[in-house]
Amino acid sequence: MFLIEHFLFSVILSIFFFPIFKWQVWLIVAGATLIDLDHLITNFSKFKNSKDFFAYFSKQFRFFMRKPESKKVQLYVFHSIEFLVVLIILSLFFKPVLLIAIGVVFHLILDLISDTLILKRYIRCFSIIQWIRKRKGL
Ligand SMILES: [Zn+2]
Repeated sequence: MFLIEHFLFSVILSIFFFPIFKWQVWLIVAGATLIDLDHLITNFSKFKNSKDFFAYFSKQFRFFMRKPESKKVQLYVFHSIEFLVVLIILSLFFKPVLLIAIGVVFHLILDLISDTLILKRYIRCFSIIQWIRKRKGL
């Protein structure tokens, strides 16, 4: 899913939460949008120069649609269940983290719908532990 789509859908979601959280809803939008920074981290080694960096964001959808170069499963840390668990635990104590967690959960739901129903693919690993085990052949 395009980054801009995540942004727009989260703005719509934040309208529903506005009566409860007022202007702090920007944290929901931030959580739902900035989570995709992990794509940048994971694919950082593929950037040869600054042009690649801008192409990545401008043609992001095509970048994700291309066939995986290998059967190697990519790990996107901010899309992992472990990151979500940490966020949920922290959200019990810090209200801003709760709003970010709402955005992240919304983002993951949109990704799941997009990946399984629209793109019909499953190439991600949603667990850091599972990813480590697969790499070590366990
Ligand atoms: Zn995503």
